[in-house]
Amino acid sequence: MTNINAILDAARTHCDEVIKPNIAQWNDAGVWPRDASDKAAAAGLTGLYCAPEFGGQGLAFGEAIQVYEALGKGDGAYSFALSMHNICAFAVCNFATEAFREAWARDLTAGRKLANFALTEPQSGSDAMKMYTRARLDDAGNYIINGAKAWVSLAQEADVYLVVVKTSEAPGHKDMAMVAVPVTAEGLSFGPRYDTPSYRFLPMSEMYFENVKVPAENVIAPAGQGMQTALAAIDIARVSIAAGCCGLMETALDTALAYAKNRKMFDGVNLDLDGTLWPLGNIATDLEMSRLLYRKAAAAIGTKEGPLLAAHAKLYVPDAALRAATICTQILGGMGLLKPYGLDRLTLLAQMLKIVDGTTEIQRVVIGRALRKRAESLADIPVPKGYGEA
Ligand SMILES: Cc1cc2nc3c(=O)[nH]c(=O)nc-3n(C[C@H](O)[C@H](O)[C@H](O)COP(=O)(O)OP(=O)(O)OC[C@H]3O[C@@H](n4cnc5c(N)ncnc54)[C@H](O)[C@@H]3O)c2cc1C
Repeated sequence: MTNINAILDAARTHCDEVIKPNIAQWNDAGVWPRDASDKAAAAGLTGLYCAPEFGGQGLAFGEAIQVYEALGKGDGAYSFALSMHNICAFAVCNFATEAFREAWARDLTAGRKLANFALTEPQSGSDAMKMYTRARLDDAGNYIINGAKAWVSLAQEADVYLVVVKTSEAPGHKDMAMVAVPVTAEGLSFGPRYDTPSYRFLPMSEMYFENVKVPAENVIAPAGQGMQTALAAIDIARVSIAAGCCGLMETALDTALAYAKNRKMFDGVNLDLDGTLWPLGNIATDLEMSRLLYRKAAAAIGTKEGPLLAAHAKLYVPDAALRAATICTQILGGMGLLKPYGLDRLTLLAQMLKIVDGTTEIQRVVIGRALRKRAESLADIPVPKGYGEA
């Protein structure tokens, strides 16, 4: 079992020595920096939640998710991609068949192979139930998959994708399964890369299945448990994103502070103005609140309260990060718009992190549903006779 402090130190070093000095060049090149993810692997950051017997660090979510705050100080998209890989590695170590786990687990925890999830489809993002990708069993017990996924991160770069599929024509999610599809599978192809405004190094595209055959040993979650497993994974992803957003907020805040303390204006510097300090103070408060939120949500992963706390964190923190990036841009004046200061990139990243793995609005839907349930459990407060009646 690895010590969390050692892993957090490794994540901070990775951010300072690998992400920050190279992020501009990665975005210019528009290529996933495999040498960087190899270094992350060597630092122990690719098997965070997996048991040591599979080469993982064996860390609890409540502790390990702080890694993404450290990485998010460098770049939120890089942090997001590594978080998705770690979740997939966890799924393989804990839910895959023995044969699949033996074949893949150690390569995933060691980062020799990368993994990602594919749930979203061209016609369905928030409305994940409207799924058209189908998997049917052939006589030999293989799944034959046809359909299309959209917004696949690490497209063509990951070595394996955990794909959510429907196994019948019945409406709803009760027939959904999750199967692992290696990138080399015959019949698997990818669409043109999305042209993104920042995070250009993270390849994303649609992914197409034409009679893709995978053996039964590749089933991660059998029919009936595919959506449940995907939702459990998404809860971890939501909290990881909130953690990454805290790193982003701290970088935005420090950029504004470091600049404003030197920017001469009137008889002093920008940072002397209350109009500068007060919004920065709000960001500092938001950052403290956000840390409390994501850490509480991380500790609750896998419990009954987990999904709701993940929704609170995913609702609040990316929004706070976008607010922080916008305010800090304003504080630098015209300079805030220039690329070398990085605030344009942070703004685009915060907006992206509000959308991926369940939009802000979807978190409101989750929270709203919980509030309705709570209302039902409360004793009635009678409405006075005649109120609300025509
Ligand atoms: C950078 C990036 C990487 C991604 N990587 C992956 C990946 O690796 N694998 C994967 O499977 N997916 C991935 N996604 C997909 C992502 O999870 C979806 O984009 C997200 O779930 C939203 O779906 P959508 O884009 O189709 O928006 P839509 O579902 O079309 O939503 C459009 C708008 O309607 C709003 N809306 C939806 N429902 C409601 C409602 N009930 N009430 C009010 N408003 C509502 C939404 O909040 C949004 O503002 C990625 C997305 C991004 C941006």
